[in-house]
Amino acid sequence: MYNLLDQHIQYLPSVGPSRALTLAAELDIRNVRDLLFYFPYRYIDRSTIYTVNQLREDMPYVQLRGRISDISELGVGRSRRLEANFADDTGIVRLVWFAGISYLKKTLRKEADYLLLGKPVLFNTAFSISHPELELITSESVQSEMLGLHPVYHTTEKMKRQNLTSRFIEKLVVEVFRQLGTQRVADTLSDELRLQYQLLPLHDALQRIHLPANMQEVPMAQYRHKFEELFFLQLGILSFARKREGKYRGFIFNKVGRLFHRFYNDILPFQLTDAQKRVMQEIRNDLVSGRQMNRLLQGDVGSGKTIVAIMTMLLAIDNGYQACLMAPTEILAEQHYVSVSRIMGQLGLHVELLTGIVKGKRREAILNALQGGEINVLVGTHALIEAPVRFRNLGCAVIDEQHRFGVEQRAKLWRKNTNPPHILVMTATPIPRTLAMTVYGDLDISIINQLPPGRKPIKTVHLYEERNESLVQLIRHEVNAGHQAYVVYPLIKESEKSDLRDLEQGFDTMCATFPDLRIGKLHGKMKDKDKNEIMQLFLSHQLDILVSTTVIEVGVDVPNASVMAIVNADRFGLAQLHQLRGRVGRGAEQSYCALMTGMKMSDNTRKRMEIMVSTTDGFVIAEEDLRLRGPGDIEGTQQSGLFLNLKVASLTRDSEIMESARQAASNLLDADPDRHLPQNQPIWTRLAQLRKTNVDWSAIS
Ligand code: ADP
Ligand code: MG
Repeated sequence: MYNLLDQHIQYLPSVGPSRALTLAAELDIRNVRDLLFYFPYRYIDRSTIYTVNQLREDMPYVQLRGRISDISELGVGRSRRLEANFADDTGIVRLVWFAGISYLKKTLRKEADYLLLGKPVLFNTAFSISHPELELITSESVQSEMLGLHPVYHTTEKMKRQNLTSRFIEKLVVEVFRQLGTQRVADTLSDELRLQYQLLPLHDALQRIHLPANMQEVPMAQYRHKFEELFFLQLGILSFARKREGKYRGFIFNKVGRLFHRFYNDILPFQLTDAQKRVMQEIRNDLVSGRQMNRLLQGDVGSGKTIVAIMTMLLAIDNGYQACLMAPTEILAEQHYVSVSRIMGQLGLHVELLTGIVKGKRREAILNALQGGEINVLVGTHALIEAPVRFRNLGCAVIDEQHRFGVEQRAKLWRKNTNPPHILVMTATPIPRTLAMTVYGDLDISIINQLPPGRKPIKTVHLYEERNESLVQLIRHEVNAGHQAYVVYPLIKESEKSDLRDLEQGFDTMCATFPDLRIGKLHGKMKDKDKNEIMQLFLSHQLDILVSTTVIEVGVDVPNASVMAIVNADRFGLAQLHQLRGRVGRGAEQSYCALMTGMKMSDNTRKRMEIMVSTTDGFVIAEEDLRLRGPGDIEGTQQSGLFLNLKVASLTRDSEIMESARQAASNLLDADPDRHLPQNQPIWTRLAQLRKTNVDWSAIS
């Protein structure tokens, strides 16, 4: 059957090949279906027509009716513009365009009647309107088609040049509904689902979101579209996860053997927290289930994730397998190597470190021993996932600080054995639940929501860079007490010279302020060898102050450090500030974090500093971060391999809809695992359509 929705957009009236190309390039609109799923972001009420003498400076978009005269082109190059007068019986406003000039020159008609929509701006004593929307009033009455409620669509500069305005899109949508006539857009959800979640039929929801009769119609339509968007997102994630479960059997680690018991009874230097115990139980359940574990372990900095990783790896070894631990930086890999081999060494196990700087004979020896099975645990950076690294029998892989690794890297680890190993990913960046359900939607989640006993909460202060005496005092006081301090500079791009200069200057200032102290400098442009040397000096307390960029951000553990000063703190995101702050407060002593900003700052900056000062709870900070910045900026979403391209739903505001949508998707997969039920066919068809354009889940399996 012929389906209008599949028709290419270029065949709609007045589109044609050239505009169709632009619509595809700018908005991903290729066929009529894409057009119908391109929603307005607001509506304007065009019931009122103002007159020029009624204009006030504080008016938003207004509508005028009048005639155009005195069209003239002015300026050259970037100031080239088209200007014209627009007059009604009460006065004149000036119109200005900076783009689409030649098109306008051809099409604007002098002395014809126009309906104008735009935002008036007062210049001296006269109003001007730039890039107004103009509509020629023809013989028919203005009333019906032009007045009333109208959708407003986002458009781009490039579109404007081809007169692809919001109004143009609106007309296309009207045309589509006209062509549909009595035919209704086929639904993408089953009646059952619509009934259960009280959703409008797709056809009505589309019509109402584009062309509502009144504003009361909009929320129900939006709800349907939000639900739909989140439902298909979750269906994609969950059906991928189910497919994976069906495809792979997990190694069964049913022995809690000699190594684990010896560690637990003789070596573990403290009591596990209740949260650590609970998480270990969740992991053990996975390991005996016969399914491959894919678990995300979330826990704030210092919550004790490493020990959980070590115990998990011991279970693998107890059951005759190898394990590996992957970290995002050389420094962190080395630290893990030190702590893992300290513990595992006592159990007579063989631990090796593999990073990019391990080369030649040494590397060859490690690779051979790994394949021979003599190495029990390999710790390293992403050097671990390179092709020549072959295990004899990898049973468990732990990935620390997941947000630095993408889904593809996880997938590469799977291929290190004929059956994929159990995977535990650990992150110290707490992720709001809605985001976790999406970015890590295919992982089971465990949370360590408790710090080991005896930790003193870090005291955080906000200081002005112009007045840094209190910072100087703080550092002096702490160093005198035998502690160490970090001073961190933002480096947005490691290549940016001005940032490095800030760091150098900061270093010089510190040296001048504290001539008697031992001060080191660390940044990403340094050679790995030099970086490690400085880090070792700081670790062994041969340095009092470390002036550095964010290379120290992730996971570095120097319990004796008690001051974290962050310069230009406004240039960091909340999550990153939280990470940095977590570098101190690792021992039993009181620690401090000083956030430095200029005295002049935006409201947003002030808000963010207040949040940091008021709480050390990573989950609260993560929620705030999501609220203030939106998900696009949250660290991890870009690298995660998922493109979070939500059009109507919001991760912050629509978490309840997300929960229902996830539940609905999960129920559907339970009820119709083989996708046979006839009433669900539209759902699978739509999922397939979306897959083609959006996320490629198959990359992982
Ligand atoms: P993170 O979760 O940030 O990776 P770590 O695993 O590095 O945290 O643990 C932080 C510190 O807390 C380490 O020095 C670790 O030995 C210690 N630690 C972990 N668990 C406990 C516990 N249950 N009781 C006391 N100290 C603990
Ligand atoms: Mg850690």
